Amino acid sequence: MVASKKDIYDVIIIGGGVGGLTCGCFLAKAGKKVLIIEKNPKIGGYCNSFKQNGFTFDFGIRALSHSKEDSYLYKIIKEDLNLNIELIKTEITDCIITPDYKINFYSDINRTIDELISIFPKESKNINLLFDLINNINKNSILASFYQEFKNRTFKYLLDKYFKNEKLKFILTIPIGNLGLSSFEVSAISSIMLYHGYLFKGGHYIKGGMQTLVNALLTNFKKHGGKILLSNKVYRIEFIKNNIKKIFSNNRDFFYAKEVVCNCDPSFVISNLISKNILNKKYFLEFKKLKPSTSAFILYLGLKDTIRKNIDNCCGLWYYFNYKFDDFYFNLSRNKINFNNINHLLFAFPSFHDKNLAPKNCESIMMILWSPYKNRNFWYKNAKHFKETLINKAKNLIPNLSSIIQVEKITSPVFLNQYTLSRNGSVRGWEALPSQLRVSKLLEEILKKRIFFVGQWSTHYAPGGLFTAIFSAKKIANIILTKTKEKK
Ligand SMILES: Cc1cc2nc3c(=O)[nH]c(=O)nc-3n(C[C@H](O)[C@H](O)[C@H](O)COP(=O)(O)OP(=O)(O)OC[C@H]3O[C@@H](n4cnc5c(N)ncnc54)[C@H](O)[C@@H]3O)c2cc1C
Repeated sequence: MVASKKDIYDVIIIGGGVGGLTCGCFLAKAGKKVLIIEKNPKIGGYCNSFKQNGFTFDFGIRALSHSKEDSYLYKIIKEDLNLNIELIKTEITDCIITPDYKINFYSDINRTIDELISIFPKESKNINLLFDLINNINKNSILASFYQEFKNRTFKYLLDKYFKNEKLKFILTIPIGNLGLSSFEVSAISSIMLYHGYLFKGGHYIKGGMQTLVNALLTNFKKHGGKILLSNKVYRIEFIKNNIKKIFSNNRDFFYAKEVVCNCDPSFVISNLISKNILNKKYFLEFKKLKPSTSAFILYLGLKDTIRKNIDNCCGLWYYFNYKFDDFYFNLSRNKINFNNINHLLFAFPSFHDKNLAPKNCESIMMILWSPYKNRNFWYKNAKHFKETLINKAKNLIPNLSSIIQVEKITSPVFLNQYTLSRNGSVRGWEALPSQLRVSKLLEEILKKRIFFVGQWSTHYAPGGLFTAIFSAKKIANIILTKTKEKK
């Protein structure tokens, strides 16, 4: 294609994940000429669903965070963008089963407090104190003082400060497994943010599956004149005169843009898309030390029978066979996993939320095992064992599981990496270490604010997730709109 004046966009967004699409919606709505370039034939990145034999499965997302009516994500998708999607509320966000207890984390924080106090009455005062902190952490004054005190601390440090009972500490640590680190490594700030945003301000599912969200974003983007180019991988960004950027994509096309927003992994951008000599060297060395979060092995099962008798409707069910939390996660962050030592399972039940996701009297299940990336050969050799191990262990919850499986499919970290180009198939962007808080500042410095980042890698306090992708997208769109207003 010959580039002409008409190919100059106000903004080009690289990547059509939730972050890129949301940013595109805000910019197009404000009258900007926007192009999204996406390498896959389908939009959405990780926020995708697929169909098999009448079952609809989500790639991996179990639930939204910050999705209650008074929360950020709800306000952006329902009020700012007025997306045509239906949020399905779930009373129980996470259900936890251990050798001695079955405990629900309700989206109603008071019910959760009552349940915990009924089991651990001696810890009642500090249960109230901790949950009061979680509930109010979004208030600026509370966040500022909590940040000062805990910015270098881990979740274990925080729990040890509040509680004596080891089983209570174990139970409170289980949902933090979403961050993929041991309790003595994971940031206290990220952990409290996860509790606040996901367990108590979130817990919604999207009717029709997660793909419905990206479809609604695309409709909104196009309605405001946004353009999208699918099956086009961007392989180079050049900075030319007058702050114009030239973007090359693999169909031998190139486009000009006044601003570029990257919805992809910054490591990929820095290593592959731009010339090293534009980087701020001091920050580049710091950037190279950052670690991505863990990846996942995912098993999707379509069942020819209903399994609702013994399982509550929840966004996630953690089934623990013993009281060892840290061994698994400590090994995981050192790239190790042993399927003989898997001590827990994480289930999601999409068809519990929306029965249309499975044929009549059938159910869909997703089992997620946070996993290291390894390599193609490892998963080629071991995926079958992992799958069988998960199914065998899941019989503790669903005794007749093997006999009712109608559809089964797996996804490995290698596929997650190939699909989104996220380093090591990372599911949530950066690892939630205390030393990696406020990565967004580093990203601004390293490229001297010449390109912008949205999505799970542009996180501030807690890693990844739809909330970070959507929140960062609105923030960057506002920065670009203010910048262009000032130029006029
Ligand atoms: C198993 C699993 C479970 C999860 N559970 C939850 C959950 O319950 N709740 C939650 O909120 N989040 C969850 N997440 C995380 C959530 O899915 C992601 O954080 C979020 O979808 C990331 O969106 P994004 O827009 O930042 O990036 P992505 O979804 O990674 O999108 C980036 C897009 O950029 C494209 N791209 C990359 N490079 C290029 C290039 N050079 N040229 C063109 N296009 C390019 C990719 O193809 C992709 O479409 C989960 C993730 C996984 C994998």
